[in-house]
Amino acid sequence: MGPGVLNHDDIAILFADRLDSGLPIKAFGDGTVKDGNGAHDWHLRPDLDLTHDYHSIESTAQIDGHQDTISSLRAESAAALAALYFLRSVCIFYNIRTSSSNIIYHLDNKEALRRLNASVYESFFHTANPITTDYDIWAALREATSSIPGTHIGIHVKGHQDNDIPLESLSLEAQMNIRMDALAGECHNTHSLPLAAKAHYCNQVSLILRGHIVTTKIHQQLRSAFTGPSLQAYIQRKENWDDHIFSTIDWPAHRSYLASLPFPKRVNVIKMVHNWQYTKSCAMFFQESELCVCPMGCRMEETALHHLACPNIPGSDL
Ligand SMILES: [Zn+2]
Repeated sequence: MGPGVLNHDDIAILFADRLDSGLPIKAFGDGTVKDGNGAHDWHLRPDLDLTHDYHSIESTAQIDGHQDTISSLRAESAAALAALYFLRSVCIFYNIRTSSSNIIYHLDNKEALRRLNASVYESFFHTANPITTDYDIWAALREATSSIPGTHIGIHVKGHQDNDIPLESLSLEAQMNIRMDALAGECHNTHSLPLAAKAHYCNQVSLILRGHIVTTKIHQQLRSAFTGPSLQAYIQRKENWDDHIFSTIDWPAHRSYLASLPFPKRVNVIKMVHNWQYTKSCAMFFQESELCVCPMGCRMEETALHHLACPNIPGSDL
């Protein structure tokens, strides 16, 4: 810490004083996600005089989330949330209950900003859908903005503006955004393992299934979590497949094909795929019939796919 640099207590007093005096606070943040691993950072300062940093505070951290579903929206929202949590600590410690300060967040993610600027707290839980993506962070964000005095305002700053324009020619907000982008990237690079999803404070719905935070299609997810393992075991036992063979099947493609079919046809296709058609062979297996021969009189055994080869079924009937 060099001369003139404030320690953390002084920084806390500085921001407490600004909130108490109704002076504005600038907040910046950014998030990055790569290979299912997310990081974010935040930075608070009283003004935009970038020639000195001694009265600013910033931090970086990983963001929790499942590596299959974590998105930049989650990381960017977490950046604003972390800055809010610092301000909340200041308000609690210095007992600041009201403030006329504008706390202005400069982020480059429009959806994160929309959520930050969303409806007032009282109506939030009546309008927001609890199965919205990353609802858990959003709920925490709204709870934080409602409990921290001051007016919270999110403003968009376009990211990566230094791709075309020299850094020194950019607005101070754009320069800060580039700094935040770099810091989040550094933080990401120093943490090789994703941080498992966790339930956030004040979540109305927190459903975590095998490390996934479930925020969409909760009923469907619960149903498959409940029935999936036994259904998989049944199919593997029936087909004599080990885990490796089971995993080589493109189940998402199978699911989306089935979902595209009208319900009666879907039932027939599922019966055919799993050999559940009501053939004579099947009836005999369940001891409902003593004969397995084809009822069309071809004298062949009516196996699962026999109807495709039966000489007594005209091709036009298939
Ligand atoms: Zn036949």
